[in-house]
Amino acid sequence: MFQSLFLGVFLAAAQPAPAILLPAQPVGEPMDCNGAVFKAQIFNDDIACREVSRSKLKIADQTVTLRLLHDDDEDATLPPGYAEAAYEAIARSFEIVSRERGDLKFHNVSILPVEAYGQRREARMSGVTYWRGKAECVIALEVVTASRIAPEDNLLMFKFIVAHEAFHCVQSWNWSHQMALETSAWWREGSADLVGMLAYPGFTAQSKVNQGFAEIADAKSVLQMDYGNVVFFHWLWSQSPQKVFDLIAAMPRDKAYDSMASQEAALQAFLPKEAPAQYAAAYRGARIYATQ
Ligand SMILES: [Zn+2]
Repeated sequence: MFQSLFLGVFLAAAQPAPAILLPAQPVGEPMDCNGAVFKAQIFNDDIACREVSRSKLKIADQTVTLRLLHDDDEDATLPPGYAEAAYEAIARSFEIVSRERGDLKFHNVSILPVEAYGQRREARMSGVTYWRGKAECVIALEVVTASRIAPEDNLLMFKFIVAHEAFHCVQSWNWSHQMALETSAWWREGSADLVGMLAYPGFTAQSKVNQGFAEIADAKSVLQMDYGNVVFFHWLWSQSPQKVFDLIAAMPRDKAYDSMASQEAALQAFLPKEAPAQYAAAYRGARIYATQ
């Protein structure tokens, strides 16, 4: 049932605008969402921004502000109950990773509903995270629920998307250099889908494992996939959650080395030599590397 629905789901992390890559900011009040920095971050000068609600979240020893915004120039709002669901999904995403890695940095998050791009469609749910290094993270969400599935399944998909996007925020606060490389999509999306799946188990990852992953994995290595790598990252997490964080930290962080060859070299340096054989045995011939 989720198969066709999933076609309408897109999850992404937008590249930051280079001009506004700023040094670390202390966590404080959320920024002015009608201000120039906010507008530049979301690539939208026309927003007429208003805060709808906010919620404080204590995570490890940090307190951050989550808030829901509304663009009065657009007619995009969340369905009833979805704001609370978004706060819950962000909190759950942060807690899952913070529990395993106590020194992660967090910051404020703004949620901005946006109109579905192009023609409004049935079952259009997507998220894009706008980030700029160690500063507030903005999650833009298109939410058009699917009338043919149960309300609780719509809500579950929404929570999965928000938990996925929330981990893009964590990536931006902790590994912004690695994340800024265009060739980082394989681990950026795979690890975000992992955290979404851990936050809301059974929704997508398990169905990816069960439905057709073997065929995909026969044709493509880990380095040639993005969302499909939820399986690889789940495998890594099951050995030790630390390995997922350590892998991200070990990835290339210099734009001069923004190539898949550099990604593969860094991955080979990070993983033990026996990893490909272990992974292949666990997942029916799946390959980690593109060149072996
Ligand atoms: Zn994503």
